[in-house]
Amino acid sequence: MTLATAWFRSPDFVNALYIVAFTLFIIGLRGLTGPNTAVRGNKIAAVGMVIAVVATLIGEGPSGIPVINSAEDAWLILLGLVIGTAVGIPAAVKVKMTAVPQMVALFNGVGGGAVALISWAEYRHALETGGNPELQVLIPILFAAIIGSVSFWGSNIAFGKLQEILPGRPIQLPGQQFINLALLLTAIGCAIAIATGSESEGLFIGILVSAALLGNLVVLPIGGADMPVVISLLNAFTGLSAAAAGIALGNTVLIVAGMIVGASGTILTNLMAVAMNRSVPAIIAGGFGGGGGAAAAAGDDHGDRTVRSTSAQDVAIQLAFARLVVIVPGYGMAVAQAQHAVKELTRVLEGKGVEVKFGIHPVAGRMPGHMNVLLAEADVPYDQLKEMDDINPEFPRTDVTLVIGANDVTNPAAKDSPDSPIYGMPILEVDQSAATVVLKRSMGAGFAGIDNPLFYDPKTSLLFGDAKESVSEITAEVQAL
Ligand code: NDP
Repeated sequence: MTLATAWFRSPDFVNALYIVAFTLFIIGLRGLTGPNTAVRGNKIAAVGMVIAVVATLIGEGPSGIPVINSAEDAWLILLGLVIGTAVGIPAAVKVKMTAVPQMVALFNGVGGGAVALISWAEYRHALETGGNPELQVLIPILFAAIIGSVSFWGSNIAFGKLQEILPGRPIQLPGQQFINLALLLTAIGCAIAIATGSESEGLFIGILVSAALLGNLVVLPIGGADMPVVISLLNAFTGLSAAAAGIALGNTVLIVAGMIVGASGTILTNLMAVAMNRSVPAIIAGGFGGGGGAAAAAGDDHGDRTVRSTSAQDVAIQLAFARLVVIVPGYGMAVAQAQHAVKELTRVLEGKGVEVKFGIHPVAGRMPGHMNVLLAEADVPYDQLKEMDDINPEFPRTDVTLVIGANDVTNPAAKDSPDSPIYGMPILEVDQSAATVVLKRSMGAGFAGIDNPLFYDPKTSLLFGDAKESVSEITAEVQAL
């Protein structure tokens, strides 16, 4: 028996491995539905991915030739694995918790880029070996090229905005929507030309380039608070393009994995858009977050408005004598890594008979579920975390709301200022509570780059400083009472 005819290369064995792999993906995804099972779910899905990679490498490619057909193939693949591992593992180990969202955007983009390159390689190969492939292969290749390229370039822009290499505010060209439409029509036009018989790598490159420009130009104008929806949409795009590549390559596991990502990304996009009171087509068309009169970044000029700053001691007194305290965490809690200190404050307050709840906004932080993950890490019981719709009716009977590093998700301009870029976005209505204390370092703006009238509300006081230090000081003061 030679290596080429070895039993483990039989399609039945490879398919059996694929079934094991995508079963593990599904079990893993199920684990991701709760914070207690998420880590195990992630590990299970990773094992599934290893099995899928092994199965692909020992199996046959689309043309029936073994994927590893020569020593040269083996070395090239090994080189790819070594480079990927050398880049991926240190990046994932070293990344700061606050930089995970941009790393996810980057990895998502890499997936889309890989799909676009695979579709290009497949098309070239087809041209060299006899011309355009059959339509059932050609159409998925063309689809994967367009969506994969949009996803790669769009994700890079999202990465740049999250990493603050690019400004978070919307960047819009004159006639942007017409340019986008022209680029989309160019990509689709080239694809139709190829699908109807033109055999041209130039047209294919035309698809990749127009989709690349489209990816950049669609995400650049997204600003305000609409980035979360766009990031999950790009994630869905990558999944769908991978599934299309799977159809073109006849690779079952790629179809299943791509559809899992595509379907879950689409559901998440829809949930986030509904939670943000936005419509996905309007976000993509640049109809929201476009910057209005109230979009001026918060700076030191607050007109004649004043803010009331407070001390840890005063906050401790307010909290210790409250009946109900609602804690609203945001991105600043993640930056300060204050979750354990917050848990300790909660414990101390509860020891004094104060009821403590957490108000979690769906886009607080920089990734879906960001606050839930951090608070779960600090063992805050899940049933203490209240979603926006459940906590909002509670604010009028709340004695003190403690806003820890949250800004945009509490901004009343979303309700009151029609010209605000975040107008219409549902917020945590902390301004309804009897008193609000905001923990932040300065008068700096949040992700949307806009001023927050909450800070000038007479019922609001600000405790300036790093959230972790402030929370620890408050806890010590409460204990000393
Ligand atoms: P924001 O980004 O609006 O505000 C964060 C606040 O934290 C800032 O005002 C900052 O003020 C403060 N802060 C930063 N570091 C510290 C620190 N060490 N200690 C204390 N405070 C600190 O956060 P939100 O959570 O309210 O809103 C999330 C925003 O991000 C929304 O606009 C959302 O659309 C967007 N977004 C969300 C994503 C998601 O999936 N969740 C993805 C992409 C974007 P200061 O500098 O003065 O300290």
